[in-house]
Amino acid sequence: MEQLSNSSFKFFSLGGSNEVGRSCHILQFKGKTIMLDAGVHPAYEGLSSLPFYDEFDLSTIDVLLISHFHVDHAASLPYVMQKTNFQGRVFMTHPTKAIYRWLLRDFVRVTSIGASSSGKDENLYSDEDLAESFDRIETVDFHSTVEVNGIKFTAFHAGHVLGAAMYQLEIAGIRILFTGDYSREVDRHLNSAEVPPLPSDVLIVESTFGTATHEPRASRERKLTQLIHNTVIKGGRVLLPVFALGRAQEIMLILDEYWSNHSDDLGGGQVPIYYASNLARKCMNVFQTYVNMMNDDIRRKFRDSQTNPFIFKNISYLKNLEEFQDFGPSVMLASPGMLQSGLSRDILEKWCPEGKNLVLITGYSIEGTMAKFLMLEPESIPSINNPESTIPRRCQVDEISFAAHVDFQENLEFIEQISANNIILVHGESNPMGRLKSALLSNFGSLKGTENEVRVFNPRNCVEVILEFKGIKIAK
Ligand SMILES: [Zn+2]
Repeated sequence: MEQLSNSSFKFFSLGGSNEVGRSCHILQFKGKTIMLDAGVHPAYEGLSSLPFYDEFDLSTIDVLLISHFHVDHAASLPYVMQKTNFQGRVFMTHPTKAIYRWLLRDFVRVTSIGASSSGKDENLYSDEDLAESFDRIETVDFHSTVEVNGIKFTAFHAGHVLGAAMYQLEIAGIRILFTGDYSREVDRHLNSAEVPPLPSDVLIVESTFGTATHEPRASRERKLTQLIHNTVIKGGRVLLPVFALGRAQEIMLILDEYWSNHSDDLGGGQVPIYYASNLARKCMNVFQTYVNMMNDDIRRKFRDSQTNPFIFKNISYLKNLEEFQDFGPSVMLASPGMLQSGLSRDILEKWCPEGKNLVLITGYSIEGTMAKFLMLEPESIPSINNPESTIPRRCQVDEISFAAHVDFQENLEFIEQISANNIILVHGESNPMGRLKSALLSNFGSLKGTENEVRVFNPRNCVEVILEFKGIKIAK
């Protein structure tokens, strides 16, 4: 690694740069080292799903901040804490920690992360590692500043999923904002991302959707309910692959309300909705507990009706498929969200040969996963238990995004409000990220050559970005 001058700020990623997955970014300034997120890559197995931890001395890290509980941001944390020479302190918000516990226990069990497909004993971590690491994770409240070894940081609402945070850090007079994954649209249950009151010198921002534009929320909700209604009326089954937690609860709020409004032809068990996850009940408890951290709208409903909005009238829980009677049309929300393995994959293989059935993708599908492959509408798919045999795919496949990432316009507006002079793009495949970079450079083109020039970086993994902060002004 290159020698740093006293005024150099250094950024580089061990994962999650020019890709979506295994997010992990390192910041160094004035002898302090911070790690942002510790995810895995859902398209890979075992050790190859990890960020490139060998490329960095993890014992030098002072603080590790986790933005939210999704596996591509948090699932390698037990590995970092238990299997490496990392000795720093780890922070996340309360709901993130509550969900992290259940989510990762499930993750150890149901995904192939624990052992590679070669069958060799290559466990990344065990239940015991998870439990031990859990006790050493510290929690932060939104909007309250924590200081560790001269590094100050504050969590702000990021939207996206329950507990998701943006972190603004302050080290020796410079401020850095890390968005994690964020959304700006008003949601059924979450606060949207907020702009921190203090300006930032460096912005590290996601670029998932590049320069693409989302359809307005109301029309996406209408499309979703229409498409599902039309399918089940014709006797078809609908599979919605979802992460066990997070966006699934948003889809459930939409469907539960729609079913109540159309009880004549859908209600009373005519077309059952299932939420299939071995975590279902535990997860719903967490959501029911943290209603106070959600937006005014859902808190008002909670107050007015005196019933918890996450106790659904039209949705029942399934722990596994043994208890599932597959007669007639139904709607199934099942995890994991990218159909790599587990319940959602089993149901896919059962239902995909039938032309009247529908697989509806609502999340962001990472390159290399079955969910991404399915959107190419292949003639057949490989069976998970017997890769030699294939299964014909005749079902309909559709995508309506409820992934809760900003689109181009939302991202641009937010970036303009932050008005940092240095923008580092992360969490996007190369093409959308490259297009976002060009769009940002042309948007800020008039500032070129002035002292307010905006610089935009889209580094690859393990490529350093060095910024000089000589004679820094403490406040802008
Ligand atoms: Zn996420």
